[in-house]
Amino acid sequence: MYKFLIKNKLINPTISINYYISRVVTVPTLITTDMNKRNCKICKKAIKGRSDKLFCSEKCKSYYHRKLREVTKKATEKTDSILHRNRSILLEIMGKNATQKKVSRDLIDKKNFNIRYMTGFFENAQGKRYHIVYDFAWMEFSDGDILIKRRNTKKQTQ
Ligand SMILES: [Zn+2]
Repeated sequence: MYKFLIKNKLINPTISINYYISRVVTVPTLITTDMNKRNCKICKKAIKGRSDKLFCSEKCKSYYHRKLREVTKKATEKTDSILHRNRSILLEIMGKNATQKKVSRDLIDKKNFNIRYMTGFFENAQGKRYHIVYDFAWMEFSDGDILIKRRNTKKQTQ
């Protein structure tokens, strides 16, 4: 029996390392968390094995992550589609190569650009606020005109 255990550890070093870690590293946490009462986050079945396991099986684990993605997609798709439309409008105005362009506020309003949605913002040295929409940024002049810039280009400024 003893020989068999030794042999087993030698044959499969991963098992012996995990065994070692579970004995040495997680023993203090076992005092506060009862290992025997852990249940799968999905099917509520008792979990066997490592103390950091949250699911009883790969099936439950992938179900959980699929659901998580679905819920996130549902919650973000409206915002995403507004941002995507904003980006499309800026691309349409800028074309393939323009690094910056000045347009009227009317133009972007007519195209249904939603100024409240952006992916970020920054202020330049003059304190002008730029609204980032992915790889573009825009700012409003005091006369109402809009300056659009392409970001991450060789000519990138501010
Ligand atoms: Zn499960």
